[in-house]
Amino acid sequence: MTQTAVKVRGLTKRYGEVTAVGGLDLDIQQGEVFGILGPNGAGKSTTVEILEGYRKRDAGEVSVLGVDPARSDRAWRSRIGVVLQTSNDAAELTVREIVRHMAGYYPRPRDPDEVIEKVGLAEKADARVRKLSGGQRRRVDVALGIIGRPELLFLDEPTTGFDPEARRQFWDLISSLAHDGTTIVLTSHYLDEVEALADRLAVIAAGRVVAEGTPSTLGGRASAKATVGWLEDGVRRTVETDEPTRTVLELTRRFPGEVPELTVERPTLEDVYLRLIQNP
Ligand code: ADP
Ligand code: MG
Repeated sequence: MTQTAVKVRGLTKRYGEVTAVGGLDLDIQQGEVFGILGPNGAGKSTTVEILEGYRKRDAGEVSVLGVDPARSDRAWRSRIGVVLQTSNDAAELTVREIVRHMAGYYPRPRDPDEVIEKVGLAEKADARVRKLSGGQRRRVDVALGIIGRPELLFLDEPTTGFDPEARRQFWDLISSLAHDGTTIVLTSHYLDEVEALADRLAVIAAGRVVAEGTPSTLGGRASAKATVGWLEDGVRRTVETDEPTRTVLELTRRFPGEVPELTVERPTLEDVYLRLIQNP
């Protein structure tokens, strides 16, 4: 039996004339990694900050771990981990000091040194946060997000400013948290990140969900026609087909050995995403 971690119906938030979120629905199950993908200004941060209890909504129903975040208490907050899009002001404290300090606010915290190790900051444990690079500070944010052993972790564009290696390490960390049973809500505008991590995702454009699915089925991706391509008499030829296997079989009959420059392609997540956000 899966249980619902987050349930949202008709969520609406306006800033003056701007409707940041306009009638958004979401269902996120316990134990899943759920990606929220969308361009800048789509309403991702507004949505997750309402779920985290940081912003008030204008309309709609929201339940997070069975509680309305607008009426939450300290016990509820200790079950949630939050990594906001913008880092906190850099502290004069060292990494170890700030992680230990924050551990004191939770009833069942993780071990501070293990958390520092997990986020890849073991060598910087005694450095002052103020002196860290942008990507290293982001890891401190993540450490503070998981120190309380949250059941549900919100990450708002967590890897901005990471180099490729740091991003891969971060992906491993998220996978290990998910493996331990943490429900994770991740916003991103990096398609590869969502494709690598998310069990399911929603694409948001202009404050609404325009598509929902798994990375491989989103927007009809799995059932879309494949394009088979090859080189023949010096000319590149392509066929769009529902039956690429049959096309490849025919080609293997026509060509004695290797089919020259054979390719079989389906729409990438990026193809589908760009179509969705251009015609929402
Ligand atoms: P995203 O995180 O997807 O980039 P946001 O939720 O930050 O999107 O923003 C959605 C819309 O709401 C944008 O048009 C943004 O300019 C506007 N917005 C966000 N926060 C505020 C605010 N505090 N005051 C006024 N407008 C805001
Ligand atoms: Mg944002």
